[in-house]
Amino acid sequence: MNYPKPVSGLTVGIDIGGTKVLGGVVDTSGNILESLRKDTPKTGGQDLINVVIEIVKTLQANHKIVGIGVSNAGIVSADRRTVVAAGNISNWNNVALADALQSEFDLPVVVENDANAAIWAEYRFGNAKGLNPVMFFIIGTGMGGGLIVDGKLYRGANGIGAEFGHMMVKLDGERCGCGAIGCIETYASGSALMRYAHEAIKADAQGAKSLLDFGDGTINGFTGKDLTKAAQAGNAMALSAFAKQSDWVGSAIASYTMLLDPEAIIIGGGVIDAGDLFLKPAITAAEKYMPFADKHPLPKIIAAKFGNDAGLIGAGDLVRE
Ligand SMILES: [Zn+2]
Repeated sequence: MNYPKPVSGLTVGIDIGGTKVLGGVVDTSGNILESLRKDTPKTGGQDLINVVIEIVKTLQANHKIVGIGVSNAGIVSADRRTVVAAGNISNWNNVALADALQSEFDLPVVVENDANAAIWAEYRFGNAKGLNPVMFFIIGTGMGGGLIVDGKLYRGANGIGAEFGHMMVKLDGERCGCGAIGCIETYASGSALMRYAHEAIKADAQGAKSLLDFGDGTINGFTGKDLTKAAQAGNAMALSAFAKQSDWVGSAIASYTMLLDPEAIIIGGGVIDAGDLFLKPAITAAEKYMPFADKHPLPKIIAAKFGNDAGLIGAGDLVRE
């Protein structure tokens, strides 16, 4: 069914991730008026659709809603109606999510890849405003990507465009969650950062004691937050793990600059919590690896404005687009 595009009014933005579903009422300035969070059901599929429906109904009770935008971790069809594949949610392949929500609520619905939704939030209301072209790395457990050219999200022919985390950089390297080998995600993501820390801990159990003391003292209980704390306090082992990750991110900045010549690259995701600890060495590495280095300016490297809410804010706005 075709709906006229709502040009104005409140929408519900939903962000579906592997562990949680966030929902919020989003106004035309990107503010969240009311929000809600539920666990992602382990069974996925229809149970997950039901959770989304429940969230929308709850939010709708207090607000007049003109559309629903869904940000989904995974690949979404180019027509923005179907979840094609999601690595870490069960029974979440080839799900006609937009149709299901539309028949329930009789409102326009768009479904978008989570990184695309997040960069859209940055472009409309955050730190990517007015930049063209502007690209986005979202570096958390994995490494998502997004690209906006001339004010439009670049999706490609099949909805898999701008998946910047899956550029192959080491053909005999690590197996990636996508099935390929040696993707940049396996070297530049938060998971890679933790792998570097674990490798260092195992290689020097004695030296690692002071690092592990930033957590609960055990390697299994040692978290990303503990690692960031340790690096901020100047722990050499933690700083070396960050340096490895930043180096790979810098190489990605250099490669993608030659491919797309962006005015700016926005970096979001959990890694931004480390602030300059991560950004400064990444910029230094980008300068070090940049082809034709002294012949052109480096794109601006900017931390994202929005954190966990980016997906739902962007998705909520995309249904007005
Ligand atoms: Zn990959």
